[in-house]
Amino acid sequence: MPHLAVNEVRAKYGAHEVLRGINLTIEKGEIAALIGPSGSGKSTVLRALVGLTPITSGGVDIAGQSINYKSAAAVRGARDRMAIVFQQYNLFQNMTVMRNVTLAPTKIKGRAKGEVEAEAARLLDLVGLAHKHDAYPDQLSGGQQQRVAIARALALKPQILLLDEVTSALDPELVTEVLDTIRRLASEGMTMIIVSHEMAFVREVANKVVFMDSGEIIETGSPKEMFDNPKTERARDFFGKILRH
Ligand code: ADP
Ligand code: MG
Repeated sequence: MPHLAVNEVRAKYGAHEVLRGINLTIEKGEIAALIGPSGSGKSTVLRALVGLTPITSGGVDIAGQSINYKSAAAVRGARDRMAIVFQQYNLFQNMTVMRNVTLAPTKIKGRAKGEVEAEAARLLDLVGLAHKHDAYPDQLSGGQQQRVAIARALALKPQILLLDEVTSALDPELVTEVLDTIRRLASEGMTMIIVSHEMAFVREVANKVVFMDSGEIIETGSPKEMFDNPKTERARDFFGKILRH
């Protein structure tokens, strides 16, 4: 049984159907990369998983249990299991790095401060920011802020981490440090769904590459299959465009 199963999921914005029957499975420890042209629905897949975009039909199972997105409690449960990190990291500017990471576990989850801070220290170490506990976001580079955002997501102990173009807003010299953090999570066995335009990175780190276009999954395969020998015309066309430069 896959850890996550997305079954025939559809979603729309107004009359515009942007997910048109998505089927996807993720095993524990697997790293799936969602790729495809802008507007193909990659972000909407991640948003639908955590209940930010309503699903109009189809369903999602996690650990064999169906998520009832109509229930606020079930959506909260889904967000405990799947944490999402966006391109715009949205840290609280008036709080230290440590406070940003510990806020949700202490205030929302009501967990003990000491225990949460000890865990946060480990997470900040994991993302390479052990020396920045007391810094404020505006004292950090974009890459450092994004790594705080990743630590903040991990502080909720998700089973699956969803990363939506987390390096796209960064200056090129800051991309590597964030990719290094994701590599490190991969080596720790974190299950992840990654939306990324960093194709060399996707090729290196993903177990499964999922190519989307116009709200559909067109083709899925190993990085080698997908990059070296895509079967569909649309995937070939996409790779032809992005890998040429
Ligand atoms: P991707 O992440 O692959 O670039 P998105 O999932 O963001 O694609 O978008 C899929 C489609 O949904 C696009 O046509 C986009 O214009 C549309 N869309 C995304 N967000 C909204 C929104 N909040 N309101 C209306 N349409 C949206
Ligand atoms: Mg997107």
